[in-house]
Amino acid sequence: MVIVLEKNIQEGDKARIRSFLEEKGLTIREIAGVDETILGAVGIAPLDVREVEMLPGVERVIPITKPYKLASREFKKDDTIVPVGTARIGGLRITVIAGPCAVESRDQILECAKIVRDSGAVMLRGGAYKPRTSPYSFQGLGEEGLKYLKEAGEREGLPVVTEIVATEHADMMRDYVDVFQIGARNMQNFELLKRVGALGRPVVLKRGLAARIEDLLMSAEYLLASGTDNVVLCERGIRTFETATRNTLDISAIPVVKKLSHLPILVDPSHATGLREKVPPVALAAVAAGADGLLIEVHPDPEHAASDGPQSLFPGQFEKLMRDIEAMSPVIGKEIQHPARRKTGPARLDSPEPRRGARTRVGFQGERGAYSEQAIFRYFEHEEAEPVSFQDFRGVFAGVLDGSVTYGAVPLENSLAGSIHENYDLLLQFPDLKIVGEKRIRIIHALIGLPGAGIEEIRKVHSHPQGLAQCADFLNRHPAMERVPFYDTAGSVAYIARQGRREWAAIASREAAEVYGMEVLREGIETNPRNYTRFVFIARSGHPDVADPDMGSLVFSTPDKPGALFHAMKILADLSINLKKLESRPILGKPWQYMFYLDVELPAERASFEKALEQLGRTVADLRVLGVYRA
Ligand code: PEP
Ligand code: MN
Repeated sequence: MVIVLEKNIQEGDKARIRSFLEEKGLTIREIAGVDETILGAVGIAPLDVREVEMLPGVERVIPITKPYKLASREFKKDDTIVPVGTARIGGLRITVIAGPCAVESRDQILECAKIVRDSGAVMLRGGAYKPRTSPYSFQGLGEEGLKYLKEAGEREGLPVVTEIVATEHADMMRDYVDVFQIGARNMQNFELLKRVGALGRPVVLKRGLAARIEDLLMSAEYLLASGTDNVVLCERGIRTFETATRNTLDISAIPVVKKLSHLPILVDPSHATGLREKVPPVALAAVAAGADGLLIEVHPDPEHAASDGPQSLFPGQFEKLMRDIEAMSPVIGKEIQHPARRKTGPARLDSPEPRRGARTRVGFQGERGAYSEQAIFRYFEHEEAEPVSFQDFRGVFAGVLDGSVTYGAVPLENSLAGSIHENYDLLLQFPDLKIVGEKRIRIIHALIGLPGAGIEEIRKVHSHPQGLAQCADFLNRHPAMERVPFYDTAGSVAYIARQGRREWAAIASREAAEVYGMEVLREGIETNPRNYTRFVFIARSGHPDVADPDMGSLVFSTPDKPGALFHAMKILADLSINLKKLESRPILGKPWQYMFYLDVELPAERASFEKALEQLGRTVADLRVLGVYRA
């Protein structure tokens, strides 16, 4: 059962609830969520729910109806995010784990680690114990293979994932392994599950060849009940009558698992298909279906691989796939995770691991549920960032400057509506602030009404004029809906929630509906689905520099003479610096004079950028670097 505790519960009451349950023979897990703290109690003790409900400090008790308890969504409503070193699995990121089927030699795994890391994998896979169908096939290098795997992982800054096949290997493997993999053939080896669970390390649990989703979750329950909180499920195809592929990928397992469980789920398109040409399309489909990441076999020379060569990607194929995943991720509201050393983001500058209770304050304009708030949650983690609402953009900038928030998140441009000039101007007016990061968010508008309201009842639709304009086709198809301009999208949801009128609706994000307890009547009503907003994160200029920046934003004015802008551009061209954006803005107080805003790709050779700045400094006026960051 799940025991939801009162918000301001006394420690003494909490301890009494715990010991009451423990005396009954139940095992207790405490989960501190964003909104509430719960105790999960599992075990076989017969217990009257009412007895627990009456204990001081208990808000309510929810029985868990599923046979798996700790793994169930009823037990924990927020998605579990599994930390592995500085990488994570789950939430709004896509985590790619790649490497060969088996560690074959030191050179092979070192080379492979470099290949997969260069293309953006965040963890390295490689088997040292291979459960092969035939006893005559390559069985893996054993402990020697683990040593090479660990060395390769350390060299590239990638945590390593490898399969454990026997309980007696557990202690030895602990020295080499970041994430234990339980293979498909061992999914129901319960002694192995108990032993691995007790190690407390993250585990990737693969679905058995003929296992139902419920069986998979029951196996996850063994791991969780034995002592690890960090279980990652993996769909790797199941046996069916189909023989065209090695297994049949059960793609619908992803949304099914997401509903039943809080645990993240990866997809292994390599073992699912058994054929390398089928791996990229299936991998993309898995990501589109909501997988939290992929486990992919990549080999420097697949044609000579000791195992699973036909399904292993060539390095070039893997690189292309990673680019495609990166391009697709924002469409589904996710981000591909980048490897540790190149990691972006201010949160990671000072705290690679989430620190409970020490949330970073990030300012945004608007009300709770605004798209800016989503940008914050995608840039940081829910548990890391505390969004702080400001009435206007200037307030956000001022808040960062006076230190009441560490960062500010402001939109700079929308793919349909263009630049948000006010923020460009504010960047100039606050010279002590700089851009330290960015996030692009796909804008998905929803029609939001009171719970239980029907679309046909709606007569008035409130939203920011841009929100209304972006949903013009939908509104034209529903002529009974009158458009009511409002100052803010999320604010319009708060407003209709307060007014409580069934025939009123608002246009905003699904998140805004959740914040205000409203219902999404229709999602995805924007006319153009290619609607993205680019947010930047600003901090005080003393903020530490971002590691491995790849984008720079500059601003300058030019003398009023022929070729002035051309000369500035020539400096960039001669140094092979790629210009991503150039825009002019009137200079405040100087009619008909303009500032130029530039975004440039930072060259791998950082010295050329410094050189460009030095040369620009001699050619243009008022040169300022607004920030260098990772785009
Ligand atoms: C593997 O990932 O190397 C493997 C053997 O996979 P599975 O257990 O899914 O067959
Ligand atoms: Mn394999």
